[in-house]
Amino acid sequence: MKPRILIIYTGGTIGMMKNAETGALESFDFNQIRDHIPELRLFDYEIDNYQFSPPIDSSDMTPELWVKLADIIASRYGRYDGFVLLHGTDTMAFTASALSFMLEGLTKPVVLTGSQLPIGAMRTDGRENLITAIEIAAARTADGRPRVPEVCIYFASHLYRGNRTTKENAEKFNAFASYNYPPLARAGININYNDALIHQPGADERLVVHRTLDNRVLALTLFPGIRPQLIDNVFRMPDIRGIVLRTFGSGNAPSKPWLIDALRRASDAGKVVVNITQCQSGSVEMGLYQTGIRLREAGVVSGRDMTVEAAVAKLMVLFGCGLDADEVHRRMEIAIAGEIS
Ligand code: ASP
Repeated sequence: MKPRILIIYTGGTIGMMKNAETGALESFDFNQIRDHIPELRLFDYEIDNYQFSPPIDSSDMTPELWVKLADIIASRYGRYDGFVLLHGTDTMAFTASALSFMLEGLTKPVVLTGSQLPIGAMRTDGRENLITAIEIAAARTADGRPRVPEVCIYFASHLYRGNRTTKENAEKFNAFASYNYPPLARAGININYNDALIHQPGADERLVVHRTLDNRVLALTLFPGIRPQLIDNVFRMPDIRGIVLRTFGSGNAPSKPWLIDALRRASDAGKVVVNITQCQSGSVEMGLYQTGIRLREAGVVSGRDMTVEAAVAKLMVLFGCGLDADEVHRRMEIAIAGEIS
């Protein structure tokens, strides 16, 4: 049987063309994608499209739209072998992270991609990204199972686990990086998969979609000179349940009593504070320095080597599941979708 692939076009640069008169970038009707990329006709696959109307710049992505995406996938799960999600690059890592937690028990590929230059531009990177993403979504093992049954991002010859990625470059074609987990595959003349790194679902895995997200979370970056008043105000906000605290180095923060007291008060009030390093690679280790030990004593959770994107999305999904603060705290420290080493 021919592989059946659904392309879901949400928006972003990849689906744009330059208006010849005004010079402005405008979205084109994605149903006409084969006119822009005739190579798609060469695939011996059944390929259908679903497009957001209107397409959105990914800066406008929301948890509600993540639910919409999860629903589109879940309601067509039996009909397709793989899904390719075209998405603006700006928040692609957030969407990939959120979907990885929302689609529990996923056994089929969900490959996100986009481009730095529009499909209509001569030097576009969109053509290669889209064609290879489709090939990855359709790839099978020798015994007929999906080769990459997880949420991932394909960009500039690299396939990454979605919840490990970060957009790191606004200019170069290789816009994404996965600092704490190696690529799942590299595309050259052949696509070389690193099977040992790819998630292998159990035989009795069933898709369960977590459709409720709680966005009462925030991310706060520490910096030398941050004012106690600001910390106090933020940590006292009554409708905040989860805080991603972006700390220094291996998870360190000022050792001043005003910070430790604010953290203690927040965790006593049932807020979950997750320690994520501002460094691009490496892990939080709260037992290493006195400053980190104090954070742990104040009830802060180690986010270990999670990305900020993954930590924010995971908090939304876990609180959305109705779990209490203790259970969210416990699960933030362990991998639930391959997001922690
Ligand atoms: N601003 C665009 C977006 O994220 C950029 C892109 O598509 O890469 O939607």
